[in-house]
Amino acid sequence: MNQFGFSINKDKSIDMDKTSQKLTQYLTTEEPSFNICMSCGTCSATCSAGNFTDFSLRRINLLVLRGQLDEVRDEVNKCMLCGKCTLLCPRGVNTRGVIVAIKQYFDKL
Ligand code: SF4
Ligand code: SF4
Repeated sequence: MNQFGFSINKDKSIDMDKTSQKLTQYLTTEEPSFNICMSCGTCSATCSAGNFTDFSLRRINLLVLRGQLDEVRDEVNKCMLCGKCTLLCPRGVNTRGVIVAIKQYFDKL
């Protein structure tokens, strides 16, 4: 914190022309319910892994759409695949299936 009592956040702008949309395309094929997520956050609010870590499936979905795949790869392994989020998602997204498909995508690289 500086002498003014606040600090300026780092620039978070993303050049979408330089990010990869390959994972988004893969999920559209392998787990199309990914595309009906409305970012409500129910999955994150009730996440078992989120009780112990800063893991958030809503954030994962956002990172995938932004093409920030290095962060996705680091984060996705925190999921315990318990399936609670799948039961609670109001849009019927197969959230557990999304996580499994993301893991498979990185395994194939
Ligand atoms: S609960 Fe479903 S709709 Fe809501 S953010 Fe999670 S995946 Fe998206
Ligand atoms: S399956 Fe993963 S993302 Fe969903 S509630 Fe369980 S730990 Fe959280």
